[in-house]
Amino acid sequence: MTTLGKPETFKRDWVDGFVTAYGRTVRKVPDAYGVVRREPTRDGKVAVVIGGGCGHYPAFAGLVGPGLADGAVVGDVFTSPSAEQVYRTARAAESGGGVLFGYGNYQGDVLHFGLAARRLAAEGVDSRTILVTDDIASGPADRPERRRGVAGDFLVFKIAGAAAERGYDLDAVHAAAVKANARTRTFGVAFGGCTLPGAPEPLFTVGENEMELGLGIHGEPGVRTVSRLNATELADELVDGLLPELPTGDGRIVVLLNGLGRTKYEEMFVTYTRVHERLAAAGLSSLHTEVGEFVTSLDMAGVSLSVLVLDDELAELYAAPCDTPGYRSTGALLETVPLESTVDTVLADSAGAAGNGIVDRVLTAALASVESNEDELGRLDAVAADGDHGLGITRGMRAAVAAARAAERDGEPVSGALLAAGTALADAAGGASGALYGVLLAETGAGLAGLAAGEITAPVLADAVDGAARAFVELGKAEPGDKTMLDAIEPFRAVLRERAEAGSGVADAWRAAAERATEAARETADLLPAKGRAARLAQRSKGHADPGATSFALIVTAVGGVLAEKES
Ligand code: ADP
Ligand code: MG
Repeated sequence: MTTLGKPETFKRDWVDGFVTAYGRTVRKVPDAYGVVRREPTRDGKVAVVIGGGCGHYPAFAGLVGPGLADGAVVGDVFTSPSAEQVYRTARAAESGGGVLFGYGNYQGDVLHFGLAARRLAAEGVDSRTILVTDDIASGPADRPERRRGVAGDFLVFKIAGAAAERGYDLDAVHAAAVKANARTRTFGVAFGGCTLPGAPEPLFTVGENEMELGLGIHGEPGVRTVSRLNATELADELVDGLLPELPTGDGRIVVLLNGLGRTKYEEMFVTYTRVHERLAAAGLSSLHTEVGEFVTSLDMAGVSLSVLVLDDELAELYAAPCDTPGYRSTGALLETVPLESTVDTVLADSAGAAGNGIVDRVLTAALASVESNEDELGRLDAVAADGDHGLGITRGMRAAVAAARAAERDGEPVSGALLAAGTALADAAGGASGALYGVLLAETGAGLAGLAAGEITAPVLADAVDGAARAFVELGKAEPGDKTMLDAIEPFRAVLRERAEAGSGVADAWRAAAERATEAARETADLLPAKGRAARLAQRSKGHADPGATSFALIVTAVGGVLAEKES
């Protein structure tokens, strides 16, 4: 965050880029740090002018457009804009119906917007103000005027914008906004502080195993530190904090799970499931759910939960269409569909002790080996690629074991169990190696079709592995020397065949082949990758073994151990 913007010119630079990108909807106010709608609004319409410091995008400039705000004043990072900027922006936005100012309840904003309002009044322009006070952590319930405005800003501005668009007069727009604010509450949690542009350090830090409850949106730390929660506990904490504070209503609400700048949308969705269940259990049904970034705090890691308790009027206004750079709504009044039980892909739980089936036993041994080398495989993959190989192959192998175990319990022969394992591995592991290992297992199985375990001799196994290696190359198009798994597979295949032809038993032939594969995997350190992700940063990988070749060697070595036991 801090590296791209120069602190001295940050505000100017990002506003320039913003209007360049969204010129379809917004334009800059001449000689001011403010934006207004591109198209002039109809005469007599109330202008909703919002604002505050920057660092909160899409609040506030990103919320300007039809159906929402008419203008937004842009202050420096976390700093109120000056009265002069507020005045100029309001002047540019205003079209005869007066101005509703909206901002969070912060001293600087109150002073500067207040001054601007007085100046407008002197010129005959009427204005009202809505101070958003949704943050329950910032003041006691009986003193709402002490509370700050945080993510609830968005909800209140949405209502005000819709009311103004609908043709309400200034007092009525103000009344709707006041009602929305009185019915909005927010509670937030931070996992990491934010850093001002150009600053060497974050404004506050959160211990690795901690969370801050009740943070502000200007880098204010939370009011209470707790040890780190998982998604369910976090959702509970947020809902438990909010519920006692909610005004009574008829059960209809808008829910906003807001990211503060550095929290993944996917993580917010993980948390949302539980939030939804808990709110539903409390008799609250979300007519509109918003999950995403609405009021951020630079690059703060964290989320906040806001609830707006609806009535008929607010429900209609919230559902009205709008079109802004940061938020669009088509206005369809959709009831949120009831939560269906989520698809529970049966992820194999930790494998535990192997059953009696041979495929189960060899794959369980393989799993143990990749599991204990998971970090190392990840490190090797991170040298020139994305670092996920250890995770991926462990997850895939776990699924393969579960599938093979189930298949063998159902009486499947070796081929059927390997086929099931390959399919499960590819499904669970994903990635290049997931598909490729999946093919190796399944095609080895195909080569053993119709045979009972006792009928699998070394030559038969060598044929099956030949077939699997051919399918592998057909799929991945790797050539020897490309620094891939193939550079371990190919020597493995060759030695297995050689030994089988020389009359070795399965276990001996396999052990020799695995030893050769282990050497070959180590030797891949001298190669440059020509396939897969690592090919783009080939030079970096020099001196490090290929992760796929390394996991292959680990797997065949572990399998060899089981075969030797079995034979003796
Ligand atoms: P991804 O590259 O999708 O992140 P992994 O990290 O799990 O997948 O696996 C990386 C390994 O996959 C590489 O080290 C290499 O051995 C192997 N690999 C990738 N692409 C190919 C290919 N086209 N042919 C053979 N092996 C490949
Ligand atoms: Mg990878």
